[in-house]
Amino acid sequence: MLELEQIRGDFPILNTQVHGQPLVYLDNGATMQVPVQVLRAVEEQYAHWQANIHRGIHYLSEQSTVRVEEARKHLARFLNAAAPEEILFTSGTTEGINLVARSFGEAFLHPGDTVVTTEMEHHSNLIPWQEACRRTGAALEIVHLTDRGELDTEEFRRLMALRPKLVAVTCVSNVLGTVNPVEELIAQAHQAGAAVLLDAAQAMRHRVMDVQALDCDFLCFSGHKIMGPTGTGVLYGKRKWLEQMPPVRFGGGMVDEVTARSATWGELPFKFEAGTQNIAGIIGLAAAVSYLEKLGIPEISAREDALLCRGEEGLRAIPGVEVLGSPARRAGAVSFNLKGFHYYDTARLLDQLGIAVRSGHHCAQPLLARLGLTGAVRVTPAFYNTEEEMDALLRGVERVASLAGGLRT
Ligand code: PLP
Repeated sequence: MLELEQIRGDFPILNTQVHGQPLVYLDNGATMQVPVQVLRAVEEQYAHWQANIHRGIHYLSEQSTVRVEEARKHLARFLNAAAPEEILFTSGTTEGINLVARSFGEAFLHPGDTVVTTEMEHHSNLIPWQEACRRTGAALEIVHLTDRGELDTEEFRRLMALRPKLVAVTCVSNVLGTVNPVEELIAQAHQAGAAVLLDAAQAMRHRVMDVQALDCDFLCFSGHKIMGPTGTGVLYGKRKWLEQMPPVRFGGGMVDEVTARSATWGELPFKFEAGTQNIAGIIGLAAAVSYLEKLGIPEISAREDALLCRGEEGLRAIPGVEVLGSPARRAGAVSFNLKGFHYYDTARLLDQLGIAVRSGHHCAQPLLARLGLTGAVRVTPAFYNTEEEMDALLRGVERVASLAGGLRT
């Protein structure tokens, strides 16, 4: 059991007032709040250890280097990677996927090859593949959604007959919360000879990610969705791929030898980490992972599931609310529209009540188009939210619904 009062004490922002109302923060799918433990870790790095890494031989530089490499080892343990060299620090999920799409594309994609992704993806796990296919002449195939908002697994199976080079799929939909059967998908993709990239941006609080047990080839996530600093993230890649893939960013820190006309690349992971890293951010990310581990992902996941369930049931009971999708397994997010109200107006009116939710297309326009929509209101609770906050949301939606005639459709 999580000690809610104690936990909320770690997040002073949760006591903020917004428009004269207590803040009810239900936009954790976009970004999470940051506990004091992470703030302190970042502050300590800047206050006591600030120096560039891997380049200096002075004390602070050596200490900072050790701290960043300790963070890498910590992240490797967290994901159960075979070696710390398989952990690349990025600015977030988007950068990680772009790195793989560009580099894997350059190394392995040719005209006649196929990449498979899905209609459920965040734009960050779609556009990089569109571009990689455009550059290399490979074909992009899309797995569609069922009416319930799940992946059409029969179509996935059929597409595996094309023997794709790579399958890029999200673990959890950022709009519907649909939990994809990633173990099954990975097994089928591997049988067809494809590498698999998992977009785990929405999944890191939902399940323990063991990359060796999953046997995924790449996995990306963002620090800010697990209470870390913005501008941090991790790309896990199997060594066998990373060793064969070319760097895509060039500059300091990633080279072995440079002449005026040519360069050779450094070892993993540095080959992919050109330029000065977000050093304090990486320290903060490791502190965020420590915080997750201290609370326990199964405990966090159980609490978030219960809150989400309460939210979904409550929303379904409000006349005029249409909840998007009905997947068998939902985690992290529930989205809805209120009849007679544009989703922006619903979110704006909720904001006036102090309730922070997201509205719009959630960077998943193909998914919304499949549902015949242009947008929706999305509710994404975290373990630090209370039942009372979820009830405040439900009362807020009822209040919006009661505004006679709606605003506009
Ligand atoms: N993938 C999914 C499923 C997401 O939900 C998000 C962010 O909302 C991203 C990718 C992009 O993450 P970032 O903007 O941190 O790179």
